[in-house]
Amino acid sequence: PEAITVQELAKRMGERGADLVKSLFKLGMPVTITEAIDQDTAELLVEEFGHRINRVSESDVEIGVGGEQDSPETLRPRPPVVTIMGHVDHGKTSLLDAIRGADVVSGEAGGITQHIGAYQVALPDKSKVTFLDTPGHEAFTEMRARGANVTDIVILVVAADDGLKPQTIEAINHTKAAGVPMIVAINKIDKPGANPQKVREELLQHEIMVEAMGGEVQDVEVSALKKTNLDKLLEAIHLQAELLELKANPDRSAEGTVVEAKLDKGRGPLATVLVQRGTLRVGDIFVVGAISGKVRAMIDDKGRQVKEAGPSVPVEVLGLSGVPSAGDLFTVVENDARAREVAAYRQTVIDRKRTTTAPVNLENIFASKE
Ligand code: GDP
Ligand code: MG
Repeated sequence: PEAITVQELAKRMGERGADLVKSLFKLGMPVTITEAIDQDTAELLVEEFGHRINRVSESDVEIGVGGEQDSPETLRPRPPVVTIMGHVDHGKTSLLDAIRGADVVSGEAGGITQHIGAYQVALPDKSKVTFLDTPGHEAFTEMRARGANVTDIVILVVAADDGLKPQTIEAINHTKAAGVPMIVAINKIDKPGANPQKVREELLQHEIMVEAMGGEVQDVEVSALKKTNLDKLLEAIHLQAELLELKANPDRSAEGTVVEAKLDKGRGPLATVLVQRGTLRVGDIFVVGAISGKVRAMIDDKGRQVKEAGPSVPVEVLGLSGVPSAGDLFTVVENDARAREVAAYRQTVIDRKRTTTAPVNLENIFASKE
C-alpha cells in the first residue's frame, strides 16, 4: 500500500501535524511528523478526526496542550521547565541533586523531599524554576515523539575533564531538533584535568558558540560536587526564561503532561503531572490517555498535600483508575459522564486499531516507507 508522511496527510486533512502525531501516539504509534505511515493508518486517522468533528467537537475531548489557543489577555507569566541532558557520568544526577539541595530560599533544604519525577526550586527573587528529574534523552525524545513538548530550556552538562562525548552530541541534536534553547553547564571544574576551554572549542565544531567565545549560548562553569557556581547557573536559567517570556492561562480547566507514573502498592496508580495551562484542583475530573479519574489528592515535590497546582507546577496525582504512560496528555473535563465518554471513545479507537492491523513496531513503520 501507499505511504504518506504525517505532514502531508495533515496538510490534506487541514489539520495540524502535531495533532495527528498526538493521535498516532494514542494509537500506539510513536512517529514523528516527517515519517511515513501506511494507508490503513492514514484512513484510521481520517476517520478518527472525522468522528471527532461529528460527535465530539465543541468539546474538550481531544484537547491537547497547544490545542485551541488561550487569548493573550488571559496569559500570565509561568516558571520555565528545565531538562538536564548530557553524556553518562558527566554529572546530570549530581547537578540535579546539588540544585535541589541549594534551594535554601524556600526553606526546604534538609527537609523531606519526595521523588515525583520533577521538582521546583525558588530563586532569590521568589520566582521559580521547574526541573524535570528524569534526566537523559529517553524521556526527552519519548515525550517529544508523542507530541508533548514539556521542556522550555535544556541544560547541557559536559564534564570539563572529558569533553564532548557521543551522548553529548546526541543531546545537542535533540535539543536543536526541538528548537529548545540551551545553556551549557561545564561541570567538574574542580578536577585536576579540567579544561573548560577545550569544551568550548569542541562545542564550536557542533555550531554551538557559547558566550565566552563571543556567541549567544550561555555557558557556566560549575562543580556539582563542590557546589560551585550553582547560583550562576540558576541566574542563567532565569535570564533565558525572561527572554522566552513564558506564559500560560491559569484560569481555565487544567491540561498537562504525565512525566512519571507508577503503581504504588498502598496508594494505587500514581502519576506526576506537569500542569501546562489552567489550574488543577482536588476534585477535578480528568482523562489521561484512555484512563479517567477524579483527583483525590495531590502531593507536591516536598511531600506536602496541596489543593491546587497552576502552570509549570508538577504534582503527584492520586485518583487514577489505571497507570498512564509518561508523555500522556492529562485533560480536565466537566463531569463524570464526559470523562467516561472520552475514555471509552479513546479505548475504542485503540482497540479497533489493534484488531484491524498488525502490531506496529519501528520495523514495519520503516518498512512501510518503501
Ligand atoms: P550522570 O550519569 O550524568 O547522572 O552523572 P552522575 O551525577 O551520576 O556523576 C557521575 C560521577 O561523577 C559520580 O561519581 C559523581 O560523584 C561525579 N561527579 C559529578 N559531578 C562532579 C563534579 O562536579 N566534580 C567531581 N569531581 N565529580 C563529579
Ligand atoms: Mg544519572
